[in-house]
Amino acid sequence: MIKINCCNQRCGKLIITDDSRKKYCNKRCNNQANYIYKLKVNKWEIDLIKTRNKNIKIIEYLVNKNIFFVSKNELKILGFDFEVSNIPLFSDKEYKVFRYGNYGLKIISQSVCEIFLINKDEK
Ligand SMILES: [Zn+2]
Repeated sequence: MIKINCCNQRCGKLIITDDSRKKYCNKRCNNQANYIYKLKVNKWEIDLIKTRNKNIKIIEYLVNKNIFFVSKNELKILGFDFEVSNIPLFSDKEYKVFRYGNYGLKIISQSVCEIFLINKDEK
């Protein structure tokens, strides 16, 4: 018999076992420890997804109000974060198009961005 402490940092309970490979008291502790690990390692990605989802909500909010042209500044005031823009869906000298959910955001200039629905068949 060996004594170890559960490797789940939120538990740490003493475990008495004869299995030297055992690290957690149960499956739940194992899952929780994995989850905590992923949160730490992927924090940047998780924040990115959250911010992108917020951007999508802002665009959907504008679309629901039938607003399809908006300035960068107005978007920023609503909480839109341009820093998380992923690789443009389309880009040339004139403008860039970014995708947020089912919508495209065409950055025509500082003062004009166009929101349009992306055809769901195009992927
Ligand atoms: Zn535990």
